[in-house]
Amino acid sequence: MAKAVFITRKIPDIGIRMLKERGYEVDVNLKDSVLSQKQIIKSLKKKTYDAVLVLLTDRVDSAIFNVAPSVKIYANCAAGYDNIDIIEAKKRGITVTNAPAPLATEAVAEHVIALMFALATRIVEADKFVRRGKYKKWLPMNFMGINLAGKTLGLIGAGRIGERVARLASGLGLKVIYYDVIRNERIEKECGVAYYNSIEELLQKADVVSLHVPLLDSTRHLINEKRLLLMKPTSFLVNTSRGPVVDEKALEKALRKKIIRGAALDVFEFEPKVTPGLKKMDNVVLTPHIASAEGEARNQMAEIAAQNIIDFFENGKPGNIVNP
Ligand code: NAD
Repeated sequence: MAKAVFITRKIPDIGIRMLKERGYEVDVNLKDSVLSQKQIIKSLKKKTYDAVLVLLTDRVDSAIFNVAPSVKIYANCAAGYDNIDIIEAKKRGITVTNAPAPLATEAVAEHVIALMFALATRIVEADKFVRRGKYKKWLPMNFMGINLAGKTLGLIGAGRIGERVARLASGLGLKVIYYDVIRNERIEKECGVAYYNSIEELLQKADVVSLHVPLLDSTRHLINEKRLLLMKPTSFLVNTSRGPVVDEKALEKALRKKIIRGAALDVFEFEPKVTPGLKKMDNVVLTPHIASAEGEARNQMAEIAAQNIIDFFENGKPGNIVNP
């Protein structure tokens, strides 16, 4: 009998086609909106599914596992997987995979570089100024920014994305330093990136701090009031990892009190809500979790997620298992 797969939201066609071509019965939620957990449960009750392809906006935990005991694999169409209770899945013998697409790594790294430059050159503020009709005459001291070449970029997390950011930033003339719980000797050797074994020291040294850790208990509020106080008053914070890695209230306070100079956020602690004060600040750049939103990257993520399901059923060895 054909295996049945439920996909919680429309993903790029290539992923759906791959599954259908291999004979899987595929049901896709065609509503262009996030399904609540209640709605996912309702959908899973309609049929005996063998696999579910989920997105980062889907909360997958016991409530879902309880109603769909036949589902043996949840394939997340994202690199992060903090939306899934992987410990509970492991206890129940359920496999969870993620989709760390190389093209998405590239897209996120380039987005980070774009955000850094947006802060340093004040592009977003200046764009608003022109659109509002405020550009009446050229001024020699208008929208003074800073050069990034020669400045120090501090990376917290030097896995796939952190490493790519390190390579791009080194090429642009920034000095790169990093902190990670696992040392990345490749970037040390190949890019001259310096390892710091203390977040505190890195925060004191960096002109731009960029976050590239997964959301874990150990990384929740990794950037808090105490750590923000260590940063230079001229420094920027960039977060493209996961919102709760930063205490957003503390960040808003630090920006208001000029403890740091600015921040760029692609992810938010209470996503999609944004701490209201941040929206009012000109020295804050906000993007709606789009760092990996590049056509080929999204196709590759869908392909990887679909291939994980195919490999799980056809050879028992899907790549990217996150709860081995
Ligand atoms: P990765 O697993 O390759 O790298 C994560 C790194 O963080 C690893 O080197 C790991 O050792 C390190 N780390 C773990 N815990 C740490 C801690 N407590 N302190 C310091 N370092 C720690 O993951 P990746 O592909 O580089 O992605 C990183 C994160 O970026 C993902 O988990 C995801 O949440 C986020 N992400 C966001 C977007 C977006 O669109 N904004 C897209 C892709 C990924």
